[in-house]
Amino acid sequence: MRIVLVGPPGAGKGTQAAFLAQNLSIPHISTGDLFRANISQQTELGKLAKSYMDEGNLVPDEVTIAMARDRMEQPDAANGFLLDGFPRNVSQAEALDQALKADGVELDAVLDLEVPEDEVVKRIAGRRICRNESSHVFHVTYSPPKKEGVCDACGGELYQRDDDSEETVRRRLEVYHTQTEPIIDYYRAQGLVVTISALGKVDDVTKRAMEALDRQVEGKDQSDEDKSDSEDGDDK
Ligand code: ADP
Repeated sequence: MRIVLVGPPGAGKGTQAAFLAQNLSIPHISTGDLFRANISQQTELGKLAKSYMDEGNLVPDEVTIAMARDRMEQPDAANGFLLDGFPRNVSQAEALDQALKADGVELDAVLDLEVPEDEVVKRIAGRRICRNESSHVFHVTYSPPKKEGVCDACGGELYQRDDDSEETVRRRLEVYHTQTEPIIDYYRAQGLVVTISALGKVDDVTKRAMEALDRQVEGKDQSDEDKSDSEDGDDK
């Protein structure tokens, strides 16, 4: 399965992506996590990305697309992946389409996580993430770790992201509305979008997401069959 996850900052993309990727046995590819790994390793890419991320702006397409493509070409992504945070504007979506087309594959679904703006702000203010590669996400009230400041999954240190300050969050939301939301229409035109509410317990959202993805994939298989039936018909 090839899935794109979209939703505003704080919608719970990272949290859901981790569960969904596990359920579906596909790698979770998060451009935000890849940038943060580069920042902690102090690479050139990390230094560049940080200057944009700290302002709540998008990292330039050229480096983002190259990084995402590079990750998608790894062997574990050969049969599918869950993209989280990419594409984030229409030109990235077009670049992704081209890359998939070159490989002769296509997306199965775009899962759109919907959440009201005041909830987003509450979620982000309490968000804590693991410093280790696992990048697990917790919330001080909504999903606290068993031990304060420590990741349940790997024992790593939990921290608050630099770009989770109130001012930067406001800018990130603005960027989401102006640059990222248009990709929902772009994918809707391809019949790929499934929208679910991201409110409620983490488990319930995961269940909702799995059901929505199943429905989308079944519907898509059916329409592919119909298409090939009518193509067969045209040949006669
Ligand atoms: P969130 O979804 O909560 O905003 P992410 O971890 O996905 O968080 O992204 C954090 C930041 O990383 C973004 O605000 C942006 O600066 C940068 N970033 C992540 N993905 C992309 C992308 N596809 N294109 C450009 N910048 C990106």
